[in-house]
Amino acid sequence: MGVMWILVVEDEPLIADAIKMGLEAEGFAVDHTDRGDDGLYRAETNDYDAIILDLMLPGMNGYKVCQTLRENGNTTPILMLTAKDGAFDEAEGLDTGADDYLTKPFNWVVLLARLRAIIRRGGSGATAAPVELRADDLVLNPTTHEVSRGGVPIELTPREFSLLQYLLHRKGEVVSKRDLLDHVWGEPDADDPNVTQVYAGYLRRKVDEPFGTKTIQTVRGVGYRVVETGRQ
Ligand code: CA
Repeated sequence: MGVMWILVVEDEPLIADAIKMGLEAEGFAVDHTDRGDDGLYRAETNDYDAIILDLMLPGMNGYKVCQTLRENGNTTPILMLTAKDGAFDEAEGLDTGADDYLTKPFNWVVLLARLRAIIRRGGSGATAAPVELRADDLVLNPTTHEVSRGGVPIELTPREFSLLQYLLHRKGEVVSKRDLLDHVWGEPDADDPNVTQVYAGYLRRKVDEPFGTKTIQTVRGVGYRVVETGRQ
C-alpha cells in the first residue's frame, strides 16, 4: 500500500496545523482546506484515503459536505470533528454518512486510532474512483494526474494541473480570477489576480497552442472559461 492521502477540512488554524503536522509525522500525505465548499470540491476531484471533516466551517458545514458526498456516491471514509459545547447530534452526524466522529478537544492518539480504523473498514478500492474530466479530446485524470489531448500526453506543473482541473470541473462556466485564487491557490497571500493570467498563459501554451485549439478562453475583465468545440 502506498502513502495514505488525507484531506483535512478544518478552519481553526491551530487545530489544522496540529493535525497536519501529526499526520505528516506518521507518514501520511495531507491536503488541507479551511472551507467546507472547497473541501467538497477537493473530495469530489481527488481520491483520498480518508477525510477529517470539521462540523462548523465557512462556505458549507460539515454535515452538508458529508451528505453531498454520499449522495453523489462517494464512499471515502469520513471522521467528523465536533465541538464539545456545540449542538452536534451524534445520530445526525452518522446519518449524513460519517463513519465516525470525535469531540474536540481530542486526544491525538485517539484521533490517529479512529482514523486508521475507518480507513481499514473502508478498505482499499472502496472509494469511488473520481471521473476523468474532459473538454473535447482534452482529458485530465485526477487519480493518475495525467493529462492528454487526443492521446498525446501533456506535462503540467502541479499548479497548472490544479488550474486546469478546476476550470474543467466548471466547464462552460465563467470562472472569476477571485474564484481561481481561492480554489487553486488557496493561500491567504494569493491576492494578485495577475498570477491567474500568467498561469492561464502557461496552460494555453501546453494544452491549446500546440494543438491549434482554444479550449481555455479569456472572458475579459472577469476570468476564464473552458469551452468545447466538438473536436474529438
Ligand atoms: Ca470550525
